[in-house]
Amino acid sequence: MDNARIHPLLREIAAVFQNYGRDLYLVGGAVRDLCRGEKPQDWDLATNAPPEEVMTMFRRVIPTGIRHGTVTVHYKGQAVEVTTFRTESEYRDGRRPGKVEFAATIGEDLSRRDFTMNAIALRLPEGSPVDPFGGAADIKKRLIRCVGDPNERFSEDGLRPLRAVRFAATLGFSLDTAALDAVRPALTITAKVSPERIRDELDKILGAGAGSGAGRPSTAFRLMERTGLLDLLIPELAACRGVEQKGYHQFDVLDHSLLACDYASRERYPRQVILAALFHDLGKPATRKAGERGIWTFYQHEKESVRLCRKILTRLRYPNAVIDETCHLIGEHMFHYTEDWSGAAVRRFIIRVGEEHLENLYRLRQADTYAMAGLEPDPASLLPLIQRVDGALAGNRAFSLKDLAVSGKDLIEIGVKPGKHMGIILKELFETVVNDPSMNSREKLLEIAGKINERYL
Ligand code: ATP
Ligand code: MG
Repeated sequence: MDNARIHPLLREIAAVFQNYGRDLYLVGGAVRDLCRGEKPQDWDLATNAPPEEVMTMFRRVIPTGIRHGTVTVHYKGQAVEVTTFRTESEYRDGRRPGKVEFAATIGEDLSRRDFTMNAIALRLPEGSPVDPFGGAADIKKRLIRCVGDPNERFSEDGLRPLRAVRFAATLGFSLDTAALDAVRPALTITAKVSPERIRDELDKILGAGAGSGAGRPSTAFRLMERTGLLDLLIPELAACRGVEQKGYHQFDVLDHSLLACDYASRERYPRQVILAALFHDLGKPATRKAGERGIWTFYQHEKESVRLCRKILTRLRYPNAVIDETCHLIGEHMFHYTEDWSGAAVRRFIIRVGEEHLENLYRLRQADTYAMAGLEPDPASLLPLIQRVDGALAGNRAFSLKDLAVSGKDLIEIGVKPGKHMGIILKELFETVVNDPSMNSREKLLEIAGKINERYL
């Protein structure tokens, strides 16, 4: 273990605890990361001091979760969470501990933790390990193993199976067979877990490809499929298994979706793009029809994908802005650019997609292309379209009513009545300009507006 990576500030904080006659340990993900030779993201500390006492030890301490024994210590510009040793015995509703009791020893505290790799403590300041369940050896074996009996651990908290597959995906570890076998019997417990907790795990799964190691989201989804978690949590995705496509595609719809998701995660695309990559073809099972010469067609599948994606993300309590952009990208993912697109066609594409979504739509296309055969997409393949789009954006702007050389006020001045007629006229002017941006002058547009207006008078 690389103790040199223990932050010097943690040693200083530990000295304060020592002055109070209290013990302090580094615990959780940070210790796991140190064991793997990785730099920890955040620091979780455990102590035998009650939270009220920790509040008195430092000048700035925030009682972030004091009911559960957690306070946040701000020390020399760093924030660390300090949690009093706990035992958690009852998870009656499968959601959260029925009651929190403080424990006397680090050993007790470690024994309530989920996996052996998460149940190692380093005593501070020196960093000597406390590892009662062989967590360090499991990390070496790249194995996720439960602390104690997996069936018991999973029935206490139905989120743990999902945490297990999440860690498998982010760390590239495998799941111990006893733990794997314990997932299915606990599905009824997992079914009671709050959607917000499920969503937070799913988000971490989606980011699995962004690390330095062997992480990828598909590892989690394959384990979820195998254990019934996918049927429980995202049955719409599970339904894509066995939906063959042929043509340019090598894979069924599920494998294709997982590859697209892995690519988007690996490229560190925004979350909306990773979600869109995962869900862009959800509508294929319902829209598949046998076409000519036995080739499958999926006419307008993107519409059904949007519908199902919205259903899933709403169920999982994703923020509306994320849902809207993800669905928008999916709805637009079927564009087919060819050189013979007119300037107006390029402008219509920009208007339909929206300038601010173009980059993400290109990214989705790259992921989709990769996932057809698992081959790196040619970065040049989208260039012809991108160049046309950039050219259009740099030219005379005509992408929204705001870009028009005339406003509603100008129209009123030439005698157009506000209301429905004005709306019709503005739309007509906009169409004119989209077709031919050189028409976007005050003089020309007012002339056209005047003529249309006469028709309504
Ligand atoms: P990451 O921060 O990457 O999600 P982590 O291991 O730090 O990983 P946290 O959710 O921050 O995970 O939790 C910190 C520690 O608390 C874990 O390492 C584990 O020991 C314990 N823990 C968290 N959630 C649970 C749970 N549902 N059941 C049992 N122990 C848990
Ligand atoms: Mg953590």
